Amino acid sequence: MSICESIGLIKSRLPKGVRLVAVSKYKSVETIHEAWACGQRIFGENKVQELATKAGLLPEDIEWHFIGHLQTNKVRQLVPHVSLIQSVDSFRLLQEINKEALRIGKVVKCLLQFHIAEEETKFGLSLSEAELIFSLDEFHKLQNISIFGVMGMATFTDDEAQIRKEFSHLQTIFTDLKARYFGNSEDFKELSMGMTDDYLIALEYGATLVRIGTAIFGSR
Ligand SMILES: *Cc1c(COP(=O)(O)O)cnc(C)c1O
Repeated sequence: MSICESIGLIKSRLPKGVRLVAVSKYKSVETIHEAWACGQRIFGENKVQELATKAGLLPEDIEWHFIGHLQTNKVRQLVPHVSLIQSVDSFRLLQEINKEALRIGKVVKCLLQFHIAEEETKFGLSLSEAELIFSLDEFHKLQNISIFGVMGMATFTDDEAQIRKEFSHLQTIFTDLKARYFGNSEDFKELSMGMTDDYLIALEYGATLVRIGTAIFGSR
């Protein structure tokens, strides 16, 4: 299947209002341009340098989402190019993003990444860590970031019941945070979950953004 056909097939399976993030990490500028030419506009990258380089070489109407682990010392390089940082996992990082966004006069959209998988290796906050962040006065003073929702990755497993449990957990976190902290926010609306092997399941639990690489571009 061509890139265009793959994108078309995936999009035909997404309910109205759900958006596709084409995960283009390790893929060439030419390959990404091919997906752009078939109408794809949101791309996800997990390395700051790679995102910045590609953003400089590809059309301006692309929305770049950062989906990898972010270090504070890379924030300055990322902020000018990024339209959504999906992987915020500490208050320190929010402060740094806010500082750089303020410096260049931008409001940066962020998702909080939650640790929902069994694997220790995956990054992300727990619910109590997020509650701690929201309890800080300093958090509410950050004017140049906006929290758009949450992101998570399920365990890499064939056990569908396990995956369902984890997506259901993230959906609960999303609903709970929205009710308790973001009732007045129009921004807090994104539930980013689901990849090549599990996005159809994620849709059942209310995903609004799915992040798909392999099913579009082939294996890496
Ligand atoms: C690589 C990656 C994806 C895409 O994974 P595929 O299985 O290739 O669809 C999605 N989300 C994150 C955070 C990733 O790092």
